[in-house]
Amino acid sequence: MDPAFDCQQCGACCASFRVSFYWAEAESAHGPGTFGVPAALTEPLSPHLLCMQGTNARQPRCAALQGPVGGPIGCTIYEHRPSPCREVMPGDAQCLTARARHGLPA
Ligand code: SF4
Ligand code: SF4
Repeated sequence: MDPAFDCQQCGACCASFRVSFYWAEAESAHGPGTFGVPAALTEPLSPHLLCMQGTNARQPRCAALQGPVGGPIGCTIYEHRPSPCREVMPGDAQCLTARARHGLPA
């Protein structure tokens, strides 16, 4: 993790890309109220893929994101976020692309 970037004052990656994942990561695969990505915050992409609501848009913004990009912001389902969200690391290529899209410094 790059200490130069504070994700809780950013959120750019959650408002830049389509966040898609295998359907079994959603709670509906295990029954409501169990574990996994809350099904109500997902939408179908294909027979085997879901995406986070709001991310399959021209100007993506995940429905689980709360707060202004570049200000105090957070993921409301942090413990249950899907795998693509766990892969982005502060300072990596996706992070820098997302920050640039939102006019945030590299
Ligand atoms: S774009 Fe980078 S700094 Fe911003 S929230 Fe994502 S990983 Fe963190
Ligand atoms: S689920 Fe959370 S971490 Fe993933 S894109 Fe949405 S707000 Fe960001």
